Amino acid sequence: MERSSFTLDLGAIRRNAETLLRAARGAELWAVVKANGYGHGAPDVARAALRGGATALCVATVDEALELRAVPALDDARVIVMGPGDEREVGEARAARLELVALGGPIPEGVSVHLKIDTGMGRWGLSELPAPTRSVVGVMSHLAAAESDPDFTNLQIDRFREATVSLDDALVRHLANSAGTLRYAGASFDAVRCGIALYGISAFGSDPALDGLEPALRWESYVALAKRLEPGDSTGYGRRYVADEPVWIGVVPVGYADGFRRDMTGTKVLVDGERRRVVGTVSMDAIAIELDDEVNVGTPVTLVGDGVLIEEHARVADTIGYEIVTGLDTSAARATRIIRDA
Ligand SMILES: *Cc1c(COP(=O)(O)O)cnc(C)c1O
Repeated sequence: MERSSFTLDLGAIRRNAETLLRAARGAELWAVVKANGYGHGAPDVARAALRGGATALCVATVDEALELRAVPALDDARVIVMGPGDEREVGEARAARLELVALGGPIPEGVSVHLKIDTGMGRWGLSELPAPTRSVVGVMSHLAAAESDPDFTNLQIDRFREATVSLDDALVRHLANSAGTLRYAGASFDAVRCGIALYGISAFGSDPALDGLEPALRWESYVALAKRLEPGDSTGYGRRYVADEPVWIGVVPVGYADGFRRDMTGTKVLVDGERRRVVGTVSMDAIAIELDDEVNVGTPVTLVGDGVLIEEHARVADTIGYEIVTGLDTSAARATRIIRDA
């Protein structure tokens, strides 16, 4: 039996893309598929997003872009590399018809470039907008707090508008991420770059359904062993969970090496449809779940999906959904990957 399986729902990606396009009110949707599509599988997500109306793909590195180019269906897709690159990568980008972002040094020539200005992120980005050269096709910036700080976000939107208002109309202006697209009508400009919302995960740490989004990933495993603990017995490293009365636990063959993080102890998962608590220390390859009673070996466990939200796991782990999903190991050595198109 497979230790666990990830199911990617391409229909959910497509519908999330459509929802974001509506929120973007006439701007183009660019699908952010960096970090292997936020752990979901970049080529599959990219194809579904394009079918949902996205007109470009955004990644962080030239190597990520080249992986997309190698997929026949994506050979012609517009691909923008948002992170920094070196000389060699400029040559590779040119050969592969990628677009680059100038975020500090000289503006690369012979390849399409977006100028990135810093409107408040305080990270990558030019402090002043230089005169666009012939290779420049777009001007961009990045929002620092669209999920949490309306005043600062509005300030960034104003700064971006002022910096770009007198530019040639042919240049694409793009600023908004998922949170900016969903909450700030004025942030959309000519294109929006959406990642997290495309996957049906909330940028706000809330229920994605509130923004009309559907989670695209399910993660399932099973009870590989049901075991009765007597008072005083413990489960897992460090004896962090000691039974004070007789209790059944289910051992599930996923652990932190699969992306079920050590700080997710206490989060809830579904055992045969019932919400149950993960107890004890998360091991590299196993977790323990508190049960009401003995269950059969093979009883299904839903780690993500059917209402078990990435956002809840993130809250328990005191982090954000982005970090949970990019930490999942969906490679064939640890799990099966299933593609659903409904
Ligand atoms: C990752 C990234 C995005 C997407 O952000 P989400 O919050 O996932 O929508 C947009 N723009 C840039 C520059 C990014 O690095």
